[in-house]
Amino acid sequence: MMLGLMQNQPLLISSLIEFAERHHGDAEIVSRRVEGDLHRYTYKDAAHRSRQVANALDGLKLGFSDRVATLAWNGYRHLELYYGVSGSGRVLHTINPRLHPDQIAWIAKHAEDQVLCFDLSFLPLVQAVHGKCPTIKHYIALCEPDRLPADSGIPNLQSYESWIGAKSADYVWPSFDENTASSMCYTSGTTGNPKAALYSHRSTLLHAYAAALPDVMCLSARDSILPVVPMFHVNAWGIPYSAALTGAKLVFPGPAMDGKSVYELIEAEKVTYAAGVPTVWQMLLTHMKPAGLKFSTLKRTVIGGSACPPAMIHAFQEDYGVEVLHAWGMTEMSPLGTLCTLKNKHLALPAQEQMKIRLKQGRSIYGVDMKIVDPSGKELPWDGKTFGDLYVKGPWILREYYKGEGGDPLIDGWFPTGDVATIDADGYMQITDRSKDVIKSGGEWISSIDVENIAVAHPAVAMAACIGVAHPKWDERPVIAVVKKPGMDVTRDELIKFYDGKIAKWQIPDDVVFVEAIPMGATGKMLKTKLRELLRDYKLPL
Ligand code: ADP
Repeated sequence: MMLGLMQNQPLLISSLIEFAERHHGDAEIVSRRVEGDLHRYTYKDAAHRSRQVANALDGLKLGFSDRVATLAWNGYRHLELYYGVSGSGRVLHTINPRLHPDQIAWIAKHAEDQVLCFDLSFLPLVQAVHGKCPTIKHYIALCEPDRLPADSGIPNLQSYESWIGAKSADYVWPSFDENTASSMCYTSGTTGNPKAALYSHRSTLLHAYAAALPDVMCLSARDSILPVVPMFHVNAWGIPYSAALTGAKLVFPGPAMDGKSVYELIEAEKVTYAAGVPTVWQMLLTHMKPAGLKFSTLKRTVIGGSACPPAMIHAFQEDYGVEVLHAWGMTEMSPLGTLCTLKNKHLALPAQEQMKIRLKQGRSIYGVDMKIVDPSGKELPWDGKTFGDLYVKGPWILREYYKGEGGDPLIDGWFPTGDVATIDADGYMQITDRSKDVIKSGGEWISSIDVENIAVAHPAVAMAACIGVAHPKWDERPVIAVVKKPGMDVTRDELIKFYDGKIAKWQIPDDVVFVEAIPMGATGKMLKTKLRELLRDYKLPL
């Protein structure tokens, strides 16, 4: 064997912020703060303060790989923790504040968090849970000392600014094995207790490189990026890392994710690129449409986390000239798996044909291999029609959950995603369902996503969720729960008729149930288990 003679440098998260400081030191980072104002500084400042964070953690005598938790919005202080915590060899544990407080306490204990850094908006939450978090020794409020609440009842509470402000920025990032754990994120745990994906420096860096590629998020030093996807869930799809890697301007929305605030930020900061889940973009479009607003700089948006309805892709593209990149991934995948961009051979296709491709979840990113299998594990053909369980593997895909929870998740080295999908001959994957949400009617599967996408294309429908309801003859039949847009109306029969010609007759829902709201989970996905509970007394009209 002859080894290559290239330098063997571990891939470490600290190298990203060092690079950004040296090569893009004056690129801006703008954050809407909990205080309501806009804060601006540069990568140079972020790097400086990340080193102060590292020194401050040393000051707390935190050991290598100790966990530091955050309950925080997207903002510059959270970014400093991303780099300061992981860069110094500790593990950043981002907690989703939308989880139930008992679940947050459970997670903090399970992760054995030692420090909790939180935005002041989450003070009541921290006050409610700190008694149940025996491992946490230090509480840091992400604010100036003068905003620190006097009688919070929280032990060892200090302000972030005084905590890091007292520290020097002289710090040499340590070098260590690139497979060291860097950050962790718990899945929402719709069944059983939440389980954590534990990312490494290597997986994070490889994912950051891949995410920046032209056929993935296509990020560059010319972009102004607005990640509306939260830094508290799956590292905001890796954008805080990829932005530093490319030197892009970063614009953080803080707590203000309503349509008006997001629109104003996009315009004021000349955002070219935004990333979010469909529900956030729905709020944005709902704000813009009646006022006749347009974007002056936004070019592209990545939408994922749940299926992006075709009506939304159309609206962005045709009404606003914004290209939608449909993406799919999961917590266990860091999270990016596929992204939908066209191939060279598609460029000559008519717009309508191109749109059909764009609606899919997309092609594998290099680094993610995928296959669909039948219940016996046999690989299924890539014909765009055959459905199967989607399995993935690659260097930023989970091998095992933190503390081995749930046993060995892999099947012959592949991670079963729990999604059901088709893959076409060109490698475009389309999710039809979560495996537990699949509707089985007369031995055939009906895609609840297809049924929902048609409903939300109706002008009076704000949101729709399709579930299977037991049927004596067909096993299950689809029923669609619908939230109407304010001030708009549609009847059951009109909506059923709306399906004519858009889907096979036997796939048309048997009934429509109008509801005030559809239960949503902590990561902005419809909670079908809750919806089924709510509709448990519902009977199909036979
Ligand atoms: P959670 O913590 O709720 O599991 P994840 O972000 O890990 O959050 O959720 C991953 C799941 O979200 C995927 O397995 C898939 O079911 C769904 N999902 C993500 N992106 C899409 C998409 N573009 N279309 C359809 N479903 C998606």
